[in-house]
Amino acid sequence: MIIAGSGIAGLSAAIYAGRANNDPLVFEGDEPGGQLTLTTDVANYPGFPEGIGGPELIQRMKEQAKTFGATFANDIVATVEKLEDGRIRAETEGGDVYTADAFIAASGASARTLGVPGEDELLGYGVSTCATCDGAFFRGEDMLVVGGGDAAMEEATFLTKFADTVYIAHRRENFRAEQYWVDRVLEKQADGEIEIMRNTELLEVHGSPEDGVDHVTLASNESGYPKDNLEAPETEQFEMDVGAVFLAIGHTPNTGYFEGTDVETDEAGYVHTEGGEGGGQTRTGVEGIFAAGDVVDHHYQQAATAGGDGTKAAMDANDYLEDVPEHEPAAEADPATAESDD
Ligand code: NAP
Repeated sequence: MIIAGSGIAGLSAAIYAGRANNDPLVFEGDEPGGQLTLTTDVANYPGFPEGIGGPELIQRMKEQAKTFGATFANDIVATVEKLEDGRIRAETEGGDVYTADAFIAASGASARTLGVPGEDELLGYGVSTCATCDGAFFRGEDMLVVGGGDAAMEEATFLTKFADTVYIAHRRENFRAEQYWVDRVLEKQADGEIEIMRNTELLEVHGSPEDGVDHVTLASNESGYPKDNLEAPETEQFEMDVGAVFLAIGHTPNTGYFEGTDVETDEAGYVHTEGGEGGGQTRTGVEGIFAAGDVVDHHYQQAATAGGDGTKAAMDANDYLEDVPEHEPAAEADPATAESDD
């Protein structure tokens, strides 16, 4: 079995697949360990009342998966193909070719970032892509949320629990978010907990990894998209003191390797799975290919839900494999089929 991705979903799948003797080979992907490795303490993962570091949680899951026989390859799945004999062929960015009887897509989604100065340096030190994970660390501070979609509204609303004031910077006049979320934000604005800055974009984050975020530079232009009009006389640049910056400008699911296959995705790249209540919820439209975690889920996006999804995918894949004749490891063309038996 091939598992693409080594975040919570992939590792949970690997634990179950290993225990079921399905020889899981996990491709660690672009961001080994997934999004949790970008956070500090995880306080809401069940079983750790005192919290646990994101990287430590991942490390422990990886050890657990290895205990049950999972193997790991530091490579990224680049293309996937369903072969006529029923196997799944995966080619990696490293140029190796692997085949397997089942494939689980658990390659997650990467939070989008803006690419502004200071952002990379301060990611994890006051710049965050996850309010649920990091909001509580900045209690009493003023916080900036960037974005105008559901996630930005939800995160801003959530952050009012901790923040002195939450500022939302959205690049144009109208929010993309559904009215439900906009109304909740407007209520908080009326209460003085949120301030909305429309037609405003973030230009730079200032601070240091030692002391965190100190302040930000913003630009506003009442016609919207101020960054595209920085030189215009009506564009105003200004500094603002905030203790944390939350980027909520969307996620991109890492599912490009399904292009050209019969695995169905939506416009954004999220994989369609069978869903529902019975078994087989993680099946895609292609037999033997399953999907779990943030490649499927654009709603819950929590570590615990991704773990549950990965577990389901491994169980669905196991059910599928029980009805499929096992293929002998192939030679040369498929060097890693043998490797995965290491
Ligand atoms: P989204 O709907 O794609 O919204 C992203 C927001 O970020 C948009 O307002 C966009 O501005 C802004 N943005 C994107 N790139 C930007 C840039 N370079 N600079 C400045 N702003 C930028 O993403 P999302 O909010 O993460 O939601 C993703 C999906 O999850 C949606 O389907 C959403 O409904 C769902 N979701 C649902 C809930 C919920 O119902 N509880 C919560 C969270 C997410 P523009 O509007 O100008 O494009």
